[in-house]
Amino acid sequence: MTSKSHSLLTLCVHAGEVVDRNVGGVTTPIHTASSYLYTDERGVCYPRYTNIPTQRAVCEKIAALEGAEAGLVFGSGMGAITSVFLALLSAGDHVLVHKDLYGGTHKLVTGELPRLGVEVGFVDGYETEDFERAMRPNTKMVYFESPTNPLLSIVDAAAVAEVARKHGAASVIDNTFATPINQTPHALGVDVVLHSGTKYLNGHSDLNCGAVTGTREMVRRIDDMNHTVGATLNVYDAFLMERGMKTLGLRVAKHNENAMALAGFLEAHPKVGAVHYPGLASHPGHKVAARQMRGFGGMLSFEPDCGVAEARKIVDSLELFMHAVSLGGVESLVCLPALTSHAMMPRHERLAAGITDTLIRVSTGIEDADDLIADLKQALARI
Ligand SMILES: *Cc1c(COP(=O)(O)O)cnc(C)c1O
Repeated sequence: MTSKSHSLLTLCVHAGEVVDRNVGGVTTPIHTASSYLYTDERGVCYPRYTNIPTQRAVCEKIAALEGAEAGLVFGSGMGAITSVFLALLSAGDHVLVHKDLYGGTHKLVTGELPRLGVEVGFVDGYETEDFERAMRPNTKMVYFESPTNPLLSIVDAAAVAEVARKHGAASVIDNTFATPINQTPHALGVDVVLHSGTKYLNGHSDLNCGAVTGTREMVRRIDDMNHTVGATLNVYDAFLMERGMKTLGLRVAKHNENAMALAGFLEAHPKVGAVHYPGLASHPGHKVAARQMRGFGGMLSFEPDCGVAEARKIVDSLELFMHAVSLGGVESLVCLPALTSHAMMPRHERLAAGITDTLIRVSTGIEDADDLIADLKQALARI
């Protein structure tokens, strides 16, 4: 049994674990049944209700890591996000979202919510006053990410949570990029924390998962919505999640260290213009990041001083870094957001948002930092 006094590294390994009393196994067993003998004590056990011990182990581990009363896992990050929006908003409500959003979340708030009678407002800047100004009397929820994709911009989580609380709205953060190892937003006053567990929490690029943490009552409401949505994490992936999360603390420490080393190398490179990493003193969000984060994460992006074809050449010349979307795995990845995550955005809007045609996003893995730097060096030498 773990307790609140245990450190994050200990919680990663032990929080939520189920010791298999039948045979004495020290890891959480996979319970495959979709039907369970009814007892008055157990009630109805059913995978879609996320109450199978294999699933509960992951719920409890993420709750412990985020320092929350309760946690819940989902079949994908979007399953978690959709359940949160549907649980907390009704027709006639206004939701305030920050403009830097994951693509799927952007589609939900622009393509689906207005159809259901929910008004959506966008916050354009990164200052607390930008949020304050956009609040309306019927604002029920304030939603943001930090750090954001792909420029690693920083939102002051404590200040935004305070703005929401003053107006009686729930504050919600997508904490995927930071992970609970680097940032625990509940401690900053944020009501709901969510994750794409597909990324760092699992860490091995081999499944889809989502997670939500909050008070017992908040998580109960969201869980109740997911009984209808049905975006449930199956027990096989729940097993892999719990196993992956045991090494989260170790992995994130190495992601942080590697990303810092790469950012320093890139910043000093004559062929590189801007480097976006909140750990750099030159980053506009550095001060706030240093206050609200314990580490600056494994994501960064940079702009080589060259044209589009040459930026593509850098990406194609890399040998260790693979050209692929997604992030947060043990392997290092690169992508060109203009071609991938932000390809649907009109070019003038994309440029106005600071996402240039040559911007290269890096998901730093846990390989040796010198090997990664050598790879970037040889690729940059080709242009
Ligand atoms: C990937 C991602 C999501 C969506 O998660 P899925 O597991 O792909 O559904 C949401 N938010 C952020 C920040 C992400 O990176």
